[in-house]
Amino acid sequence: MAWQADNCRGCGCELSKTQSVRGICDDPECRRKDVNFQQQQRRQATLQIIRDRIPASWPDNAPIALLPRNTNALVPLLDSRIKALRRHLEQIVAEARVLPDPEFNTGETSATTNGVSVKQADLPALGAACGLCGGHCCATGGNSAWLEPDTIRRLQYQLLPVADTRIIEHYLSFLPDSSYENSCIYHAENGCSLPRAIRSNVCNQYLCKGLAEVVQGLEDGVGYCVTATVTGVSPTGIALVDASGALETLNPAAEN
Ligand code: SF4
Ligand code: SF4
Ligand SMILES: [Zn+2]
Repeated sequence: MAWQADNCRGCGCELSKTQSVRGICDDPECRRKDVNFQQQQRRQATLQIIRDRIPASWPDNAPIALLPRNTNALVPLLDSRIKALRRHLEQIVAEARVLPDPEFNTGETSATTNGVSVKQADLPALGAACGLCGGHCCATGGNSAWLEPDTIRRLQYQLLPVADTRIIEHYLSFLPDSSYENSCIYHAENGCSLPRAIRSNVCNQYLCKGLAEVVQGLEDGVGYCVTATVTGVSPTGIALVDASGALETLNPAAEN
């Protein structure tokens, strides 16, 4: 029989029979606040599934960090996407010409690091975690890869003068033959096909919450953290990592 509550877990009011099944009243405010509760419940369910699958040989009580997972299909790159990127590049290269000198402030859009420091961002464990995830965050790159006039201006400033058409062709030369559907045009089978130096600031800076959990986990777990990719509530990959990277990887999907 389903668990039933007499009172709303948001405001404490008495619940009708129908409301008691979900444990919350119909007040929109209670329902809004309950989203967080439900997320926590799903997270706890996922953590329990992962705990049940951790081999006995792994360190006891290692903290668990949850990461997303790219589930898009790898498909041949369409001409229409390449044309869209070319149009975008033509526009930002032209706009970059009239921007001020970026010596002190590049003006590029910044991205959150979720509290991870520059030094922590270099930990090989984070690279391993992104490898497990497969680039879920690159879905936001679309056909423009977060490239903006200020990115081009930074490159024009740092590098020797290069003709506008050469800059455009240079970017186009890194396009993969196949990239992930509904993700960035540069999102290829083995990760980003664009060299780090010419990626946008957003791409070079962004670190997701899951990576912050890995950093915290390594601290709390005295050097060890279990890192799991999750789709819905199901773990799709589980790895034991230390600061130097992945030590051992399980594939829960293959075990089912
Ligand atoms: S930053 Fe987070 S979402 Fe992006 S690839 Fe790395 S683990 Fe995945
Ligand atoms: S340019 Fe690279 S890092 Fe940036 S969104 Fe595209 S694939 Fe991801
Ligand atoms: Zn309520």
